[in-house]
Amino acid sequence: MRKLILVKYAPEIFLKGLNKGKFERKLLNNIKNVLNGIEYDFVKDEGRWFIECDNSEEAIERLKKVFGISEICLAHEIEKDMECINKEALESAINSSGKTFKVVTKRADKKFPLTSMDVSREVGAYILENTQGLTVDIKKPDFFVNVEIRENAYVYCERIKAEGGMPYGTNGSTMLMLSGGIDSPVAGYMMARRGVTLNCVYFHSHPYTSERAKQKVKDLANILKGYTGKINLYVAPFTDIQMQIIEKCREDELTIIMRRFMMRIACKLAEKYGVDSVSTGESIGQVASQTMDGLIVSTDVADRPVFRPLIAMDKVDIMDVARDIGTYDTSILPYEDCCTIFVPKHPKTKPRVDEIRKAESVLDIDELVNKSIEDTELFN
Ligand code: ATP
Ligand code: MG
Repeated sequence: MRKLILVKYAPEIFLKGLNKGKFERKLLNNIKNVLNGIEYDFVKDEGRWFIECDNSEEAIERLKKVFGISEICLAHEIEKDMECINKEALESAINSSGKTFKVVTKRADKKFPLTSMDVSREVGAYILENTQGLTVDIKKPDFFVNVEIRENAYVYCERIKAEGGMPYGTNGSTMLMLSGGIDSPVAGYMMARRGVTLNCVYFHSHPYTSERAKQKVKDLANILKGYTGKINLYVAPFTDIQMQIIEKCREDELTIIMRRFMMRIACKLAEKYGVDSVSTGESIGQVASQTMDGLIVSTDVADRPVFRPLIAMDKVDIMDVARDIGTYDTSILPYEDCCTIFVPKHPKTKPRVDEIRKAESVLDIDELVNKSIEDTELFN
């Protein structure tokens, strides 16, 4: 008997038809990267992926963060014979918590003499005969006893939910505007979870925003790296731009003009580094600059798709995700960000594109943008 980690990948990957191989290869590669430093063997049995390793706890912790894996199970590999299967299933059932169970059998080896139904029936009966207090519940069991019959037979009860999503690196790239807040790290996580490669840009207003504020953004990027591996973080200086806006524009238009500069720089950096799109942590109606009109006016300067994965989410739900993915505690550290320093008392909630274009035409937009890009620093 061998103990193996069964890695089940997201059902969506099965739907990829001819492209399935590409997604599988990427996922496999990501799994290898995440298990780096652990000794393990990769075992394939008729489409199922198993990992054999001594340090399975550590391996499972790491695999839980790999996008594209939907479930991880601790399976026992045994001989393909009903006596062994019954014994192992009994043992697993005894070790599971709950009073009701259901046996589910998958038979990939069609030469095996019993059908899936027969196996389930026999295993179920064996467990009932040899235990007290356990009963079968087909509709809503406390736990499942899973039997798989392939080249070998496998039995498992314990199932661990993993990240789901699509393998990281299978779906283009985005330049995430990463602030030190709660929302943008969640937005990055959500894009990455669908396979999109992340790059991040942070607009830093030295000396109005401190080194600690910058460090906080680096820390957030590092937490995201736990899911993705390497991420490029670009830190773009923003002080000159803000000063010019404050000096030359109306107070109620500061925020929206600032957001247009952020968008321009994010797009230009994306162009420079071959990144397909831009993403932000905006959610409709959350603050004055995130009204429909606000979003329309900031998108006006974008030359590539802008994704806002949190657009229809409530703040409380975004906060729940932030807690789940481990960014929340860092995000709520109280270091100022460049938007909170220069907040107008009554920002426009209904800006108009033509008005704002005109308002900012007093600025040397290209020069300001190019200078910020020139002085952008890369961390990874
Ligand atoms: P967050 O919690 O992500 O900071 P927020 O609710 O505070 O978001 P805003 O400050 O209006 O909202 O920012 C909206 C979005 O703009 C952020 O989610 C982020 O994508 C981007 N953004 C804001 N400030 C910065 C910054 N200093 N650097 C990079 N991106 C920023
Ligand atoms: Mg913010």
